[in-house]
Amino acid sequence: MLSLYNSLSRQEEPLPEQRKLRLFVCGPTVYDYLHIGNARTYLFFDFFAKLLRARGYEVHYLQNITDIDDKIIAKAITEGKETKAVAERFTKAYFEDMKALGVDAVTTYAPATDFIAQIVAQVERLIDKGFAYKIDGDGWYFDIAKDPDYGTLSGRTAAQAEDGVTRIDESVHKRNKGDFCLWKFTQTSLENLEPRWPSSLGSGRPGWHIEDTAISEFYFGPQYDIHGGGVDLKFPHHEAEIAQQESASGLKPFVRLWMHGGSLTVDGKKMSKSAGNFVTIRDFLEVHSAAVLRWIVLNHHYRSPIDYSERIAAQAVTELEMLYGLALQAREAAMRQNGPDDAASHAAGVTAGKAWKEHIEAALDDDLNTPKALALALAMLKDKELDAAAKYALITEMDAFLGLAIEETVREAGAIPPEIARKFMEYQDFRSNKQFIQSDALRAALEGLGYVIRDSQEGSFIAKRFTH
Ligand code: AMP
Repeated sequence: MLSLYNSLSRQEEPLPEQRKLRLFVCGPTVYDYLHIGNARTYLFFDFFAKLLRARGYEVHYLQNITDIDDKIIAKAITEGKETKAVAERFTKAYFEDMKALGVDAVTTYAPATDFIAQIVAQVERLIDKGFAYKIDGDGWYFDIAKDPDYGTLSGRTAAQAEDGVTRIDESVHKRNKGDFCLWKFTQTSLENLEPRWPSSLGSGRPGWHIEDTAISEFYFGPQYDIHGGGVDLKFPHHEAEIAQQESASGLKPFVRLWMHGGSLTVDGKKMSKSAGNFVTIRDFLEVHSAAVLRWIVLNHHYRSPIDYSERIAAQAVTELEMLYGLALQAREAAMRQNGPDDAASHAAGVTAGKAWKEHIEAALDDDLNTPKALALALAMLKDKELDAAAKYALITEMDAFLGLAIEETVREAGAIPPEIARKFMEYQDFRSNKQFIQSDALRAALEGLGYVIRDSQEGSFIAKRFTH
């Protein structure tokens, strides 16, 4: 039974019993190319949705796309383009990047500007119920003092809320410093560039937080199962979402389980556009395979930070090489066995495989301990007692949620050509005769040809280099 840490209750909780789950994850603001910090969040939730599906859950994975925002408007002004053109360009880039990373578990993408009617209707309900007020010439604001539960998620009081205010929420006329904008009136100074929607609220555009609840209410209703995002969004963004939706509907809890992923950092500092310490997904993929980033993500617990460096990437390449190499060995051994099979040892292997599977599932059950699951997967592939077919079956079954393209990669690597196999045998002879100078030279020559020799307790093996 999967149990997950709920940021709202601050404890681990079992996943809801029902087989249909509604999952919402905050999507990107499309004003530039995404960096690998953003990718960490999307790769993790891609894994999570795939794991749930592999376990028989029917998951509706919904993601908004923030295609109207101050940052997009600022970019449009700098580039002398329409806001819509900027948003479309980077939405397309986002989809390309996700495709390149194999992130394909999202069921519905919902751009904010397709939901203006729902946004306006939700703000109207907040006004009718007395939670929102108007500042002339500025916009409609949410009054956080009217919501006694405000701050439950982040553990902040209304008085501590002021540091979470973004530019769109700034106004000296607010009732409380932490009040946030629901609907921003069109600013005359920006009239030509700022997109605006005529509405009962006045001509304007949505605030930052309202699109998520308008979109999730449209697809899921006022209450749903799981909301995810990076920990940086917990406050003020997710706190504001709770305030909006629970005030609009009068129903609590808005979301049953809140999941927050840790940040990807560089030298301990969160990777972000504004800090300038970022690597775009595109730049990363120029150098490394997509699986390398996925491995880095899954080889850390999702709530821990990942301090990214080239060293971490190089280590991931080595570990992945090991995984693919062992999977290839298992596949080839299984194919060799595919003749006069020893039924008794095969049965023993399958039983041993079951025990491994249970260990791995238990690690994942424990708030998604993916680093442990990966370590167990490697240990399973090295287990001499385990039948090769059982190994290969288990690792490829796991790949439905690991997303490391194990089967394709290993199949493409193919068999080792005879002349390489011969050189490898020579290498092993040198090693057993302790002729290390010769064996090292041969290893280097083989590496030059794109083959990697791995020495482990179980012996040496050679495999084509799978990744970079
Ligand atoms: P944004 O476009 O800034 O709203 O970010 C899109 C998603 O990426 C959100 O879920 C953020 O929490 C996440 N995100 C942004 N920066 C990082 C980072 N350095 N590490 C992990 N996730 C991040």
